[in-house]
Order: sequence, then C-alpha cells, then structure tokens
Amino acid sequence: MQFFVNIILPIPIEKPFTYRVSVSESEIIKIGMRVAVPFGKSKIYTGLVYEIHDDPPIAYEAKEIEQILDEIPLVSTIQLRHWEWIAEYYMCTIGEVFRSAMPSAFLLESETLVLKNDQASIDENNLKDDEFLVFEALQHQPTLRVHEICAIVDRKNVLALLSRLLQKNVIVLKEEVHEQYKPKMVRYVQLGKKHRSEDDLEQLLGNLSKAPKQSQIVLSLFQLMATNNSKPVKVSDLEKASNDSGATIKTLMGKGILEEYFIRTDRVIYSKDKENADLKSLNEYQERALKEIYGSFKNNKVALLHGVTSSGKTEVYVKLIEKCIRTNKQALYLLPEIALTTQLIVRLQEYFGEKVSVYHSKYSAQERVEVWNNVLASKPKAQIVIGARSALFLPFTALGLIIVDEEHENSFKQYDPAPRYHARDTAIVLGNLHKSTILLGSATPSIESFYNVKSKKYGYAGIERRYGNVMMPEIQLVDLKEQTRKKLMKGHFSEVLFHEISEALNVGEQIILFQNRRGYAPILECNTCGHCPQCPNCDVSLTYHQQRKQLRCHYCGHHTAIYQSCQACGSQTLDTKGFGTEQIEQELRILFPEAKIGRMDLDTTRGKYGYEKIITAFEQQETDILVGTQMLTKGLDFRNVGLVGIMNADSLLNFPDYRAHERSFQLLMQVAGRAGRTKKRGKVIIQSYNPHHQILKQVTVHDYDEMFNEQILERKQYKYPPFVKLIKITFRHKDYSMLNDAADWFAKSLRNTLKATVLGPEHPPVARIRNRYLKDIIVKIDMGQSLSKTKKGIKRIEKSFNAIPYYKSVRIIYNVDHI
Ligand code: ADP
Ligand code: ZN
Ligand code: ZN
Repeated sequence: MQFFVNIILPIPIEKPFTYRVSVSESEIIKIGMRVAVPFGKSKIYTGLVYEIHDDPPIAYEAKEIEQILDEIPLVSTIQLRHWEWIAEYYMCTIGEVFRSAMPSAFLLESETLVLKNDQASIDENNLKDDEFLVFEALQHQPTLRVHEICAIVDRKNVLALLSRLLQKNVIVLKEEVHEQYKPKMVRYVQLGKKHRSEDDLEQLLGNLSKAPKQSQIVLSLFQLMATNNSKPVKVSDLEKASNDSGATIKTLMGKGILEEYFIRTDRVIYSKDKENADLKSLNEYQERALKEIYGSFKNNKVALLHGVTSSGKTEVYVKLIEKCIRTNKQALYLLPEIALTTQLIVRLQEYFGEKVSVYHSKYSAQERVEVWNNVLASKPKAQIVIGARSALFLPFTALGLIIVDEEHENSFKQYDPAPRYHARDTAIVLGNLHKSTILLGSATPSIESFYNVKSKKYGYAGIERRYGNVMMPEIQLVDLKEQTRKKLMKGHFSEVLFHEISEALNVGEQIILFQNRRGYAPILECNTCGHCPQCPNCDVSLTYHQQRKQLRCHYCGHHTAIYQSCQACGSQTLDTKGFGTEQIEQELRILFPEAKIGRMDLDTTRGKYGYEKIITAFEQQETDILVGTQMLTKGLDFRNVGLVGIMNADSLLNFPDYRAHERSFQLLMQVAGRAGRTKKRGKVIIQSYNPHHQILKQVTVHDYDEMFNEQILERKQYKYPPFVKLIKITFRHKDYSMLNDAADWFAKSLRNTLKATVLGPEHPPVARIRNRYLKDIIVKIDMGQSLSKTKKGIKRIEKSFNAIPYYKSVRIIYNVDHI
C-alpha cells in the first residue's frame, strides 16, 4: 500500500501538488498539518496537507515529503472549506489564500531570511546542539538564508529546527513588507515599592505634612485607585486629578514615593482579583435594537444594525459579545484597519479584560503566531478577537459571533495581492460554516446590505437617536461660487466657515476640517505654456508638497525637488491648482495664529506612532483644529468637537465610479458624525460649488432612506449591483501595444462565448502605474445567469490565452463584486 498527500503550496499554481509519504508518516500525518516539501529544482516550501489518499498522480512521479512540521493540525477543515470558497469566488488559487491566511512565520521556505532576535536574552544552556549552531552563526552574520542554515547544521531540512528557534525567541524572520509595529507606551504611576502596604498611608502622609502639594497628589492617587477598581492609573490622569503640571509628581518619583511604569496601549493588564467593569445598561432604543437582532438570529439571518453616529452601537455589540462568551464560544469583531484605534480596544478591554486579543497587519509575525496559537487552542485569552480583515483567517474552533463594524467601509476589500476578497462577505461565509450569528453594523449601511434587508434576506435593527438624546449635528451648505463672486473667501475658507471656526475657538471647542487630498496642491501648472509636471512612471501629474519641497507621485512614490521654473518653457510662472490638507494647515496658521493645529493624513501618520500620536493629542485637547483626509472619519469618539468643516465636497461627488454618490454620502455623514457627540448640538459646514446636488441635500437632512431609494433606482436602470454581478479583468504589461492586443483578444473571446455583457477593454483613469500600462474589461452578469459558470468560462479563456506565447507575459488580475 502506498500513501499520498495532496499539498497546498503557497504559490499561484492551479492545483494542490501530490507527494508520497512513508508508512510511518502516514500514521501521524493529518489534514491541516504543515509539511516541508521540495518543489522545482531546489526549492523547499512549507505546504499544507489538504487530502490524504492512495492514488498516485498520473502526470508526474510523486516526490517524497521532506518532513512533517506540526504535531497537531494548524488549520481546521472548516478553514479549508472557507479557503476553497474564497479561491472559487474571487478567482484565485487556494495556494494564494493559504499564503495570505497564515502569519508569515508559519511559511518558512528556502529563501526566507533569518535574523537573530536582539530583543531577547538567550540562555545558551537551553539550546539543543543544532539550535546552538544557528545561534552562534547569527552572532557573526546578521542574516542567514534558510539554505545557508542547512549547510551550517549539515542537514537538508531545517524548517522544524527554525520553528523551534522561533518559539524560543532566538531568531526572527526578516519581514520585507511589514514595518515592525511598536505600539504606543502609556505612562502609568503607582506607589513606590516601600509604600505599598495599606497602613503605610498615614505615615506617608505624616511625612509629607510639610509638603501639602505632595500629600495632595498621594491622596489623589489613592482616590483614583479606588474609583478605578484597582486598574492602572495613568500619569496624565493623576496630573488632571491633582491639578499638577507634572513637576510635583516628578519630585515624588525622585523620592521613590511614586514610581512610573509603562504599558503598551494594546496590552493593558488588569488586576485579576477585581471584577471587570460593569456593563452599561442599555437605553430603550438600544434595548429594542438588541431584541430585534436576537429575533433575526433566531431566524438564522444575518442582522444589520443601522444606528446613527453616536447612537451607542458599540454598547449593543458588547452585550452580544458578553452573551456569546458566556456560552464558551469565540467572538470575532472585525473593523476596517484604520478604525482599529486604541480607543475601541481599551473600551472592550474595560469590559472583558484579558479575554480580548488584537490581530492586524501591523503586528509582527511572532505576535500574530501567538494569537493564532491561542485561538487554535481555544484559550480564554483569545476568546474575543478584534481585528482587521486578516483576522477572519484565524483558526477558530467554536465561533459563536461575528460582528462586522463599519460594514460599509471600502477598506474591507483587499485589492492587492490575491486573494482579492471582501472581508464582510467572506466573514458571512465563515459565519455560516461555523453556524455562528453574524451582525453587520453601520451608521450608513452599504447599498448592498440595505438592499438585502429590503428583500428580507437580512434582518434589521435601527437606532435613530444618538445616545443621551444628543441632537444630530446641524448641517449647513455653503455655496463657494457665490462666496467667490462676492469676494468673501479667505483662502479656501468661506466667510461662514471662518466665522464658525473663530466662534468655536472662542468657546474652547475643537474643530475637525476635512479635505480629501493630501499634499499642498495636486497640480503644479505653468501659466505661460500650460505644462504640468508628470510622473515619469505613471500617467498622473505630480502633487506639490510644500513642506518637503518636493513634487511627489501618489501612485509610485516617485519624487523630485520642486522646480523654480517651468521645465518646458523656462518661465518662472508656476502656479498651483487645487488644494490639499497641507495648504489648509498653512492657511489656518495665518488665519488663526493662536490656534494649535494638527494634521492627519498619510504623510503625517507614516512614522511608527504617527497615527496614535495625532489622535491622542487631539483627544487630550492639545490640538484645537485637526485637518485631515478620510482617515478622520472612522469611528473616532472625540468628546469636545463642536464644529466639522468639509472644505470641498465636489471632488468626492465627481469621482468616476458608480458608487461615488453612495460613498460621498457615507463619508460626509461619517465626518459630520464626529461633531457634537456630547450635550451641545454640533455644527457641520459643507463647502461646495454645487450645493444643490441631491446627495448634499440628503446629507443635510440626514436622509439615508431617500439616498438609498434614489441610488437603488439608478443602479437598476443602469444595471449595476445589486442587480447584476460584476467581474473586472485587468490586464497589465509594460508594452503598450502588446497590452492592447491582449486585452482585445480576451474581450473578443469573452463576447463569443459568454452570455454576459462585456464592456471594454478600456484604460482606467490612471492608465499607467509604475511603467505598466493597464486596461480593464468589465463583465456584467445578470441575476438569472450562473456566476460560477461565467467564471469557469472566463478561466477557460484564460487558459487558451496563456497558451499563446506572445501573450504569456501579460498579467491578468480579477476583481469580483467590488471592482
Ligand atoms: P456609535 O458606535 O453608535 O457611534 P458609541 O457606542 O461610540 O456610538 O456611543 C457613543 C457614546 O455614548 C459613547 O461615549 C458611549 O460610551 C456612550 N453610550 C452609549 N450607550 C451607552 C449606555 N447604554 N450607557 C452609557 N453610555 C452609553
Ligand atoms: Zn511653461
Ligand atoms: Zn508615479
């Protein structure tokens, strides 16, 4: 009897590859375990056991596997079913899903780079001989490739050895794509070691009787500890409570009476002997929504929670999570990457303490491995996972609840690399496989989801009021055309907006200003000859960044120093067109010299703590005005924002995409939702050259229903989702004419064989990126037609296409649904 295994390899090949296993291996190998396998001439990959059988492959002689890497399966059969669905639905290979689903530390291969771990102190006595050899080699050489390690230990296969070294923290893997994530450290304060016993307080205060300021601080600390349920006390909280600038606290630290320590914001530790914070009791609207959600769950339906901004959706989620973990099941809380703020994490940790794990792409491979293993082992400390889209690949054993917050967010879609999946839709499939309950939440649901409610596929729960009966902000439209004609503009600020900002500053309220472009100006143009500098690699003009004195391409990162004179005609008549966040910031500094101004966009948040720093500064009211791009819109809960200004709504509305109007509505409502979240009614000013646009009207009166009705009518009329399914096929190549030929050939074949409507090929708005030309074909599939048959038809055409040598180097990229 011979034994074979089909192995998923982390590369884009169509089918799993078959290998041979020995009789003794066949007794321990299980589906879902990793194995090291040879592939091609000399490569070793980590693959995953997909099937075990006794049929030798027909087309090739099966090679032996090198080694089994796991003692228990790392991936469950539910996950494999899920991966199959993703590969089929999003038209990629299961190997690509495998590669993207696993933390990279699980996917060691012969080309992986290994570094020594500088963070850990290693006890050499704990290392086995082969482990020590690698450890020693790394003292002399900063990086080693896996095949070099093979030579060092004189063995063909070292992946198991490396797994052990990873576990012992001896090595780390070089991660090309992930910048090492260093979460923010928060400064906490406690009594010095000598003063921690209770009866010491009196004596301590006695000693300090001549220093009233100091004893006041010690008392405040005791008070905070008492009201905080013995949770750690932040230095900043103590400063506030005792009205100290920090100087006296420092003195006390110098004396050893107080002691500072640091905790990572995402790993706040809770004292175990105290109960977790009590859950808030819901108000009647939240209560009703919760009942409606349970009603949908009872009917095995996905539920949509449509609650206006600040209606208290998070508290409803908390109730659901609480109930879920009481039944010993796991809960997954998905958020778009950018909304994964410490704000929310801290809020959930306050309720659920150590049961909360966080998982996202900024975490290092090791940290992700840790969460993976905890979830796999059903550990209580990973019973609740908050994460960005990749968290849905974790090996849940008993998933009871999935919450997709901000479900309308486009950043749930992965565009590159494959699998190009949408995390909301993929999460629903995962939930069905686990028979878990699924809740989508948003203040501005996507058209698709709301349509699913209307057609009774999803259940519905709504909260129309903000928590505490805070009023929805008042929204005012300002006509920029009129303001310009009447010469009332100060820079890009209308008279009204300028006035409202001054007012807000006067009464000590904070202000958010939104402009959807970063940089100083998107275009630099010569007034004499009309030339504007273009990116040499992409078909876009370069954006003017004044602070860095650079022209930058936002597609490929190309940049040059700013020119003084026109590159084409030599005149010194260069002028900027349009404006970005940087210009707004600069104008503010001139218009409001007293105000403290912050800016949040890709340029200011790139650094290690960039994003956190800006948010914290605003939260702590160290900044008065925050200018930013759409990064600002996501779920942030600032208490003191009285005014939100939208500098120019037109660029959103005029975007060439069938969802531009839906997106504009969502974005504007979300930004507006940052205003006035406490008692006083907030104000929102929207500046536009076209204030009569129907979307802007709908935003001002908070009319989601009308927006939906109008959009759905248009979608029906012009045949867009949810009335058809869309597949976009993108062709990419550096040779322009080859690309055109290839796309034409493909489109012709599609038209000949498919029943579906085929549009294009056409160049996308940016027709060349990084010196590769692009062309798109869009396939529209009516609801009556089979989506999977159409996909199979397309794949068949791709096969014939790839058989034509001339086209072989043309890249084909599929995007399904969210194109
Ligand atoms: P949303 O997620 O709908 O925008 P949040 O959940 O952030 O709203 O709630 C807005 C604010 O109201 C938060 O500061 C939250 O703590 C508070 N809040 C919501 N529900 C309750 C409740 N039942 N009891 C006390 N405070 C609540
Ligand atoms: Zn010129
Ligand atoms: Zn470029």
